[in-house]
Amino acid sequence: MANNDVIIKIEHLSKSFDDKKVLNDINLEVRRGEFVTLLGPSGCGKTTLLRILAGFIASDEGTVSLDGKDLLGVPPYRRPLNTVFQRYALFPHLDVYDNIAFGLKLQNVPEDEIDERVRKVLKMVVMSDYEERDVESLSGGQQQRVAIARALINQPKVLLLDEPLAALDLKMRKDMQIELKEMHRKLGITFIYVTHDQEEALTLSDTIVVMNGGKIQQIGTPADIYNEPVNSFVADFIGESNILNGTMLSDRRVNFIGHDFDCVDEGFGENVPVDVVIRPEDIYIMNNTEKTQFTGTVNSCTFKGVHYEMFVDTDEGFEMQIQDYNAFEPGSHVGLIIKPSDIQVMHKERTCNTIKGRVIDAGHVELMGTSFECDAHDFEPDSEVEARIDFDKIDLLDDKEDGTLTGEVGFILYKGDHYHLTICIDEKSANYLYVDTNDVWDKCDMVGVRILPEDIHLGRPKAAPLGKAEGLEAIP
Ligand code: ATP
Repeated sequence: MANNDVIIKIEHLSKSFDDKKVLNDINLEVRRGEFVTLLGPSGCGKTTLLRILAGFIASDEGTVSLDGKDLLGVPPYRRPLNTVFQRYALFPHLDVYDNIAFGLKLQNVPEDEIDERVRKVLKMVVMSDYEERDVESLSGGQQQRVAIARALINQPKVLLLDEPLAALDLKMRKDMQIELKEMHRKLGITFIYVTHDQEEALTLSDTIVVMNGGKIQQIGTPADIYNEPVNSFVADFIGESNILNGTMLSDRRVNFIGHDFDCVDEGFGENVPVDVVIRPEDIYIMNNTEKTQFTGTVNSCTFKGVHYEMFVDTDEGFEMQIQDYNAFEPGSHVGLIIKPSDIQVMHKERTCNTIKGRVIDAGHVELMGTSFECDAHDFEPDSEVEARIDFDKIDLLDDKEDGTLTGEVGFILYKGDHYHLTICIDEKSANYLYVDTNDVWDKCDMVGVRILPEDIHLGRPKAAPLGKAEGLEAIP
């Protein structure tokens, strides 16, 4: 288990590939003996961070220290870290013993010491009887154990694991998760583990670092991350959840899905727009509709092995996902209750699109490199302005030629009665638009973007770079 002294300290680390920032000001402390998991969707930068620690690639900015000493200036082969890859990267022509002993032989370590160390690590990964086996005759799980043994033989202070279980089937992956956890406990060394599998992260880790778009979104224990996600991205990424628009009415009182609820959150102010997260297992469902907080009609009911998953349409028109050990038949009218402590209230990252732009003339403004018609007669030509556009005032069109701009659908968040989409206009300049719509789009769909002149509201800008939308970095 981790103690409190910091073994790795990462400060202001950034990295770009081809002008695209894939790591953006990463700050992280890893404690000695901790099992830390970097978790996030594909492309969020977690492997890049691991590769910088291993020394396979250089960072652009920032520092990393290990035991208080600079790590980035140390050549990869001198760093007291070892990496286990997703593809085991074993030598197919060598047996298990020689695969593990390979590095030590290169270093001319005496035979009897090699022997002792190989046997010790084979015991750790429960492969003692496999020394002479041809690695290609082993199962995926066994090959991964050999790869871990090979990484452990150098007695690293930190083991870096890059999706080591991703190539295994589900059953093998579950078994290996238990073994990895046990191995970590016995070895007492620090593990930094990369995965996009949230369940794996929750099972294995002391600490989870949730990443998206090259930024850390949240650092916490599995329970913190699951029960108290800091934003809608984390809530959506970690487990199933109902994420809804709400209004904090006052301390400990919040309105969402058309009802007022008691909650435990304070300090948001009065009548402040918020996001509300309710886990499906935290909604109590019953046939009796009296004395419940709200009611709805079951739309679907699916057995999930241990529990049933129901989608319920509330009388006010919101769809809620609910899990319960009992089945409620589709069509039945049900009563629903949510306890105050199960309502998680979060600050909204933004309440509308705010885009820096430049006035072209009295009837046009340039936003994100494109000219838009709008009323700009109050502003001097060439002056800088800030355009505010409500989420529901942006039309997405099938035919991208029909729009003023073209974009790609990114993060999709279902809000119970509509979708909240992130549309990437230009990834390199980090230009994103945020759109509320009832239409169903898929991630990576290319869309035309149309905004009516009357829906673009101009104001004097606050200091920020030209052509960027508010809060872009939060959820690309
Ligand atoms: P995955 O789970 O898919 O591996 P990841 O979160 O580990 O994703 P990275 O591999 O760190 O993400 O990649 C982050 C971004 O950097 C991606 O957009 C990727 O295409 C880009 N990238 C990574 N390596 C390079 C490279 N050598 N040259 C150019 N772009 C790169």
